Amino acid sequence: MQIAKNAVVSFLYHVATAEGETVDQSKDGEPLTYLHGTAQIIPGLEEALLGKQKGDHVETTVAPERAYGVYDKELDLSLPAEAFPAEARTELAPGFRFMAEHPHKEGEQIMFTVHAVQGDLVMISGNHPLAGQTLLFKVDVVDVRAASAEELSHGHAHGPGGHHHH
Ligand code: ZN
Repeated sequence: MQIAKNAVVSFLYHVATAEGETVDQSKDGEPLTYLHGTAQIIPGLEEALLGKQKGDHVETTVAPERAYGVYDKELDLSLPAEAFPAEARTELAPGFRFMAEHPHKEGEQIMFTVHAVQGDLVMISGNHPLAGQTLLFKVDVVDVRAASAEELSHGHAHGPGGHHHH
């Protein structure tokens, strides 16, 4: 069957930057499995996989807008430690991540990562580490099947490479 909405797709992948630096890849023999049409993978890759089938090899270049977003300098912030809730202050070390409201889009929650702490100042960024990057995906479609009723009701794929919560 062809990849379409509500297909469960398993694929092996390799992702590199435009400069050719590998940023991520699946482990040998361990495909990623997702439910197509539910925004579980980046939009540009989901579009490229539409209509493909088992055994297909797909190479696609995805612009930042259809990958992890354009780099937004306004999401790089320096805040005094007092701006954080008291119970969170002990956690404020590089790599700590938390959800907070977008500084300019009311009601939109985004993930921030602490990049550095200098004295009383905490440097955080709401940019994804791959924001601003054009990415080259090389994908091998390993399997395509129809989603089960249970998968459709949960909104994600089950089994190896998918969710394991039952
Ligand atoms: Zn489930």
